Amino acid sequence: MSTTLEPEQAKQETDEGVVHILWMNGGLSCDGDSVALTAATQPSIEEIVLGALPGLPKIAVHWPLIDFECGPETGADNFIAWWHKADRGELEPFVLVVEGSIPNEAVHGTDGYWAGFGNNPATGQPMKTSEWLDRLAPKATAVVAVGTCATYGGIHAMAGNPTGAMGVPDYLGWSWKSKAGLPIVCVPGCPIHPDNLSETLVYLLYQVAGQAPMIPLDAELRPQWLFGRTVHEGCDRAGYYEQGDFAKEYGSPKCLVKLGCWGPVVNCNVPKRGWINGVGGCPNVGGICIACTMPGFPDKFMPFMDAPPGSKVSTTASMVYGTVIRRLRKYTQNASNKEPKWRTKGSDLSTGYEKVW
Ligand code: SF4
Ligand code: SF4
Ligand code: SF4
Repeated sequence: MSTTLEPEQAKQETDEGVVHILWMNGGLSCDGDSVALTAATQPSIEEIVLGALPGLPKIAVHWPLIDFECGPETGADNFIAWWHKADRGELEPFVLVVEGSIPNEAVHGTDGYWAGFGNNPATGQPMKTSEWLDRLAPKATAVVAVGTCATYGGIHAMAGNPTGAMGVPDYLGWSWKSKAGLPIVCVPGCPIHPDNLSETLVYLLYQVAGQAPMIPLDAELRPQWLFGRTVHEGCDRAGYYEQGDFAKEYGSPKCLVKLGCWGPVVNCNVPKRGWINGVGGCPNVGGICIACTMPGFPDKFMPFMDAPPGSKVSTTASMVYGTVIRRLRKYTQNASNKEPKWRTKGSDLSTGYEKVW
């Protein structure tokens, strides 16, 4: 999100309490999380940036996806200057957002690099993504890892990858804390759910402004209120699962577990929340859950189109129980679909009321 602040203006506003958000997408990334965030509605990025939410501090967002500042530190459009200001300790406070996994630059044994972001003015050479993290993390009020690549390594960190890629907690340490005492905040998803991220950013901004308690995170550093339940618990198709009624092919409205859905063991609120504006959400609209929010993604959930191994026992039990329950329910449903017998024309009143006329 572009801001029109010149550095001097920004300095003044920094003094007035502007919180800067430095968004680094220079890891191993497809930028899918940046793109996803543009679809946020609860709240939208416009509401966050324009200060439409009561009590939210003023913010200045430096985000490569849509920032119109795009040049080097010395150019007219000095996008990267904000990063060097933060590195020099001249940007206070700021939140560092990281998108994409962090490659291990120690493994290639050359002067080259796997991933970089802007140039080092002293050498004219690209700055490695890992070097930015080394420099900025100690100065940031909060570090937010967005998307499963940045949180846990994701697709780039699959077995057999050449880069030794990892997530931000693997790189900085799982018990790392910012200078303000905040743990790394992880919002996984491939890509992130737009509102999960915008809501988390708003929470952190309120916390930075002293208006919210410490953000509650689970052991994998995810916001508890967003990742505390499973896909299965919020899935539109869970009734079919409970009745042992499973889809055998795509296009069926029934439970997708035998087609490869991992929903019963995956922490994600997407089916409950919908994807955009409450609409959609993987299994709700016919897509198997491939567990994209999980630290074990993707290796532990492949091959994606096979039924999860653990599902054989649970679906067999569900089919035995569900077949009986479904028959009983059908009987009750048929009875419930008929009106009580006294709703008829004629002079007889058979409702059980004692006539007083
Ligand atoms: Fe792209 Fe997924 Fe990685 Fe985000 S988590 S950068 S969407 S591959
Ligand atoms: Fe659970 Fe997946 Fe079936 Fe939905 S489709 S009920 S999440 S197993
Ligand atoms: Fe990813 Fe599954 Fe959530 Fe869809 S429902 S976003 S595949 S974890």
